[in-house]
Amino acid sequence: MKILVTGGAGFIGSEYVRSLLAGRLDGATEHSDSDHSGSGHSSAGHTVTVYDKLTYSGNVANLAPVADDPRYTFVRGDINDAALLDEVLPGHDAVVHFAAESHVDRSITGAGDFVTTNVVGTQMLLDAVRRGGIPRFLHVSTDEVYGSIDEGSWTEEWPLSPNSPYSASKAGSDLLVLAAHRTHGLNAVVTRCSNNYGHYHFPEKMIPLFVTNLLDGGRVPLYGDGGNVRDWLHVSDHVRGIHLVLTKGRSGEVYNIGGGTELTNKELTQRLLDACGADWSSVDNVPDRKGHDRRYSLDITKIGQELGYAPQVSFDEGLARTVEWYRENRAWWEPLKAKAAL
Ligand code: NAD
Repeated sequence: MKILVTGGAGFIGSEYVRSLLAGRLDGATEHSDSDHSGSGHSSAGHTVTVYDKLTYSGNVANLAPVADDPRYTFVRGDINDAALLDEVLPGHDAVVHFAAESHVDRSITGAGDFVTTNVVGTQMLLDAVRRGGIPRFLHVSTDEVYGSIDEGSWTEEWPLSPNSPYSASKAGSDLLVLAAHRTHGLNAVVTRCSNNYGHYHFPEKMIPLFVTNLLDGGRVPLYGDGGNVRDWLHVSDHVRGIHLVLTKGRSGEVYNIGGGTELTNKELTQRLLDACGADWSSVDNVPDRKGHDRRYSLDITKIGQELGYAPQVSFDEGLARTVEWYRENRAWWEPLKAKAAL
């Protein structure tokens, strides 16, 4: 397949590109007997165009492992640039849409870019995909569109009830994709994923921020009472799920992708302190994030039963690998922290 990946220089998009070109995602589809991608292509022999604006969180260093691969092309571009999209999109078999403003705290400080990229940009992309006759579209959404849940877990039928400007903008884009399917018959699928962690994660997010601070003997900020619960998934498991849904998911459907490891932020902090050889004297209790969702929890029965998906990386193993990666890759994160004053 010839796949265009928006936001492919970010944390999850770059994992998708690296994994796809390394052949690590081919196994994700080989046992399934249906192909809804509309491409008629097998999972092997991919070429990839990364289309990325390179905002503060986009980083070509994330794509260094594939930089010399002849199957890979990089285009610096904004999803709001209709003319450039019309030039670049035609000829692709699929678009996998990661590009977004992704940090909740930044959306609380100022939501304008979130609406411009996540809502308007997604619509601009959908329009270009239709004009270009692209056979398949996958939208990467988030479990945060469901809001917060005290007990039980969200199925895909759950009403959307986002609480932050970030999640509201993601809900807008998610619904626009489903509307394009229903209104125009666009061959599109949506994935809603829980919190990701792993290598190449921009160090403003909790796990890489805590790990890099602690590796430097620094302090870490814990919001509120630390009782907020998140469902953690290793990024490699997320991109496996995405590729499975891209190639086998039914058009017009939503698929939750969750990790099944629910931890309070306090429990997660304990794990990170242990992994970095630190203790609670390194933790600052800071005022809670405004409107902080209490708990996220996804029901992943649908993707499991329909597409045979299950996460493969245990949290203990994934976290150990992640901490090790940050230990060994200071040259990647030190300049990012210095530039963003983190
Ligand atoms: P990220 O911030 O690391 O990457 C976003 C990428 O999009 C960057 O490379 C950035 O340069 C690019 N981008 C931003 N605005 C753009 C624009 N207007 N045009 C083109 N490119 C643009 O984010 P991430 O954590 O990799 O998340 C990727 C996607 O996955 C997002 O849509 C996010 O909502 C979703 N998601 C993330 C998580 C998570 O835990 N990180 C969980 C579920 C879903």
